[in-house]
Amino acid sequence: MDARFQTLRGMHDVLPEDAAFYRLVENTFWEVATRHGFGEIRTPVLEQTELFARSVGEATDIVHKEMYSFRDRSDNEVSLRPEMTASVARAYLEHGLHNQPQPLKLGYIANNYRYERPQAGRYREFEQFGLEVFGSAEPAVDAELILATWQTYESLGLKDLSVQINSLGTEASRQAIRQAITDTLAPVASTLSEDAQRQLRDNPLRILDSKDPQVQAATANIPPLIDHLTDADRDHFTAVLEYLDQVGVAYELNPRLVRGFDYYTRTVFEIWGEAGGQVALGGGGRYDKLVSELGGPDTPAIGMAGGVERIVSLLKEGHGRKPLVQDVQVFLIQLGNEARKLSFELVDRLTRAGLGVASAPGKDSIRSQLKMADRAGAPLALIIGQKEALDGSGIIRDMISGMQETVPLPDVVEHLLKRAPGVVKATKG
Ligand code: AMP
Repeated sequence: MDARFQTLRGMHDVLPEDAAFYRLVENTFWEVATRHGFGEIRTPVLEQTELFARSVGEATDIVHKEMYSFRDRSDNEVSLRPEMTASVARAYLEHGLHNQPQPLKLGYIANNYRYERPQAGRYREFEQFGLEVFGSAEPAVDAELILATWQTYESLGLKDLSVQINSLGTEASRQAIRQAITDTLAPVASTLSEDAQRQLRDNPLRILDSKDPQVQAATANIPPLIDHLTDADRDHFTAVLEYLDQVGVAYELNPRLVRGFDYYTRTVFEIWGEAGGQVALGGGGRYDKLVSELGGPDTPAIGMAGGVERIVSLLKEGHGRKPLVQDVQVFLIQLGNEARKLSFELVDRLTRAGLGVASAPGKDSIRSQLKMADRAGAPLALIIGQKEALDGSGIIRDMISGMQETVPLPDVVEHLLKRAPGVVKATKG
């Protein structure tokens, strides 16, 4: 086959087998999020480019290199969202949600777009679930957001996870940190790669999580960020960690964790999975200045986002729960025209009763239909032959034992329900 069209590079279709895993992740996320009091928010996929430049940051890779930006037909500069926090903060202000009782908790599941180089676990269209809490600077809010995140991954049955955590402090702390970085690197700055030099100039914090070995060696002696925190910032961070200790969330202090967005302040964290090499399954942090930078009142806030594709790939490899699927419980077999008409009515009655139904309307022979029922794994078949169609009955066949029983059609649903195994059951293997 010479298919004429294909998905764009870095984009992917999700077929039913995988979609069941996506739904498991989405449902688990919402179960946990609603228990913690999060309401859902949905925002447009397209926003003004300026929104992301302002919030995520002009100098970040995401805005600088990875946005899908274009002019629409009215010459507006627009972009596909590369992440959701900026859009949620925009909506929070646009709808005056700051006038509602705070903290206000919003959750979402959304596709985001980043023109990254596609590789394992990295797509140009990917799905995230996320949580945002507006209107509180309390460390307990940081801790509960991390706890809800942790519970989501735990409920998915994912093992060997760690929460990597750090604090970037407020502006005063960060000035001290930036100074320490610049001072330490000054003697070697001119020997660093062009990229590293640009980073050192535009966004010195990001240099701490550089993968460049030369940069890593040069930054090895920079004292950990927390040594530069102001007293208030350190107290905030300590309080968050104490709450996490209380509930046994397995965090690791990671003094190099800085994250890729400019809007973060104080607490930042990532969830790492060990299976398949250390991969970031999600991350987040405080963004106490973002709402005011977007023109709103001073509103401390914190959020997180989890990558659904990466979780799905772990689940598919067997590192967590398996999705529940609706199995075929009854295979409808019909012989002749009258029976075919009756079967269609039965599809309606059976599915309304909650039964999983399959049939093969194009097939005429009983042998081939029984074979299909077998292949579909149906425990029961309902056979309507010419005789049954005439006298208004059906034969219920147990596909395992081969035992058959004839019942009047008006009672058939009741009989099938009595015999059908649980309406929803787990997939095998
Ligand atoms: P971020 O929004 O960059 O903090 O990413 C949060 C999480 O989303 C990451 O830990 C990944 O699991 C996931 N993620 C980010 N970018 C991508 C991508 N291009 N493809 C797939 N998942 C991604």
